[in-house]
Amino acid sequence: MSYVIISDCIDIKDGGCTLVCPVNCIYEGGRMFYINPDECINCGLCESICPVDAIRKISEVTEEEAPYVAVNKEFFEEKVTGWGMPDGWTKEYTTDQDHPQIANFKTKK
Ligand code: SF4
Ligand code: SF4
Repeated sequence: MSYVIISDCIDIKDGGCTLVCPVNCIYEGGRMFYINPDECINCGLCESICPVDAIRKISEVTEEEAPYVAVNKEFFEEKVTGWGMPDGWTKEYTTDQDHPQIANFKTKK
């Protein structure tokens, strides 16, 4: 069980959540940040500070938000970064890559 970041972070990504995560399990992609579900300890701190309400507990995602559970997970798999479990963000774990679904996401603006 973990938290996930949804589309509201796309092209916002102010990084506020990364400052409060006690285990540094939030990683930067090109258009949004992603939570590593295997590293998240489910504390909820990130959700409480996100200015655009872009973070959800997995058990509370709506039907529309459900694809983001896979988006966050797959960002760390071979199909995107292949990072697996880096055991906490460090500078080398930042990329301009995104999950394909995010790379192709059309914003409403
Ligand atoms: S605080 Fe919210 S908008 Fe900012 S990077 Fe984190 S998820 Fe994205
Ligand atoms: S719920 Fe806690 S551990 Fe998980 S990503 Fe948010 S701040 Fe980090």
